[in-house]
Amino acid sequence: MAKNEEKIDAKKLAEELLNDKTHGAEKVGPKEMKKAQRFAEGYKEFLNRAKTERESVTWAVEAAEKAGFVPFDPQKKYKAGDRVYYNNRGKAMCLAVIGKKGCKEGVRIAAAHIDNPRIDLKPIPLYEASEQALLKTHYYGGIKKFQWVAIPLSMHGKIVRKDGTEITVNVGEREGDPQFTITDILPHLGKDQMAKTMSEAFTGEDLNILVGSLPLENAQGEQLFKLNVMNILHEQYDIVESDLISAEISFVPAFKAVDIGFDRSMIGAYGHDDRVCAYPALEAIFQCKTPDHTAVTVLADKEEVGSIGNTGLCSEYLRYFVADLAAAEGLEARHVWSKSNCLSADVTAAYDPNYASAYEAGNSCYLNRGVGVAKYTGSRGKGGSNDASAEFLGWVRRLFDEHQVLWQIGELGKVDQGGGGTVALDISRLNADVIDVGVPVLSMHAPFEVVSKLDVYATFQAFKAYFEAK
Ligand code: MN
Ligand code: MN
Repeated sequence: MAKNEEKIDAKKLAEELLNDKTHGAEKVGPKEMKKAQRFAEGYKEFLNRAKTERESVTWAVEAAEKAGFVPFDPQKKYKAGDRVYYNNRGKAMCLAVIGKKGCKEGVRIAAAHIDNPRIDLKPIPLYEASEQALLKTHYYGGIKKFQWVAIPLSMHGKIVRKDGTEITVNVGEREGDPQFTITDILPHLGKDQMAKTMSEAFTGEDLNILVGSLPLENAQGEQLFKLNVMNILHEQYDIVESDLISAEISFVPAFKAVDIGFDRSMIGAYGHDDRVCAYPALEAIFQCKTPDHTAVTVLADKEEVGSIGNTGLCSEYLRYFVADLAAAEGLEARHVWSKSNCLSADVTAAYDPNYASAYEAGNSCYLNRGVGVAKYTGSRGKGGSNDASAEFLGWVRRLFDEHQVLWQIGELGKVDQGGGGTVALDISRLNADVIDVGVPVLSMHAPFEVVSKLDVYATFQAFKAYFEAK
């Protein structure tokens, strides 16, 4: 360095050149933090009322109708500002607000899923063993089985009786309801269990739910413990054992959503993945007045098991929904799709200092740093992911910055540590631009997951900006 040359101010240069590391709470300020707290109250109510895909759709239809949405009629012509929804079998849903330009320049889609990991019943679930009545189960989605024992469970679902009549069940959520549980061995007698690896210690066939311990009163005969439970179910729901064959019954954690932390900055609940994106995507479309481009929110089922079935996004219902919107404007669906884009709204892993070795600290998402953007997901060499283009990511970050949306970029974890996929892949098949965005979660897929309120609110703001931007 020459003698009279001034020293470079590295702090100033770093501010200009390097990524901003300001904490999210500081970035948004106390006023926005209060708004995030308020938004969380609505979200917690939703969490408590809608624990399955069916309950989520029931809630969403009610809320959508209140917000002026009407059932979509493909024969009808719609004008800018019209609000429509399509209910796919009570388990998935598409909502749209027609834009000033309609579908001409493509539609904007926020796609979240409303199914969560849980414990489903087998078709012939009820049995008795050693004077207890129990239910055989088949777990749904990616769970660590040991987390699902010795916690309170509630029962949710639908039963179709032999005569075709239907009944919706929900036991264990209301004050005073009975709840259920899967038992665990006491540590005093846990020697054999403790010697096993974690993946061997609990098998799928061990996840049997305790539902009774008394025999049928005043009776003689066989299987009185099983019969007693069946008798109660018969009295309550007018069903017989065979009706459980044509049923979809899930057991989920009975916990209510609560604030976590002395600072109340977080929410602990069952099923943040992915209702923590579904709720902001719904609220954003409810608040969307007359966008330029037609805005669509999708609530999908079956994401946790590979988006299968006619209510999962491997089905064509979203494609048809957009095709019908296009047809109403005299447009070819494929031309609309190729100009469309989508925020695939699903959770990502929040950096957890307790398990730091699973993450790469420099490329992880953190609590309170806003909506997490992921260019790609997948496993190994990005296998099974939708790798968003630099152009589309460039557009998204400009959009978020222009609308003061708190956002961060990150990968799910360390390279080759594992991985995961989302519906981004399925939607990219329609030749739309897709990118993964969503709320960072601690303890993902556990019965009790944790998110930050600020991140939930930032995710809402992200969808709102996305729908409303030119
Ligand atoms: Mn998910
Ligand atoms: Mn998941």
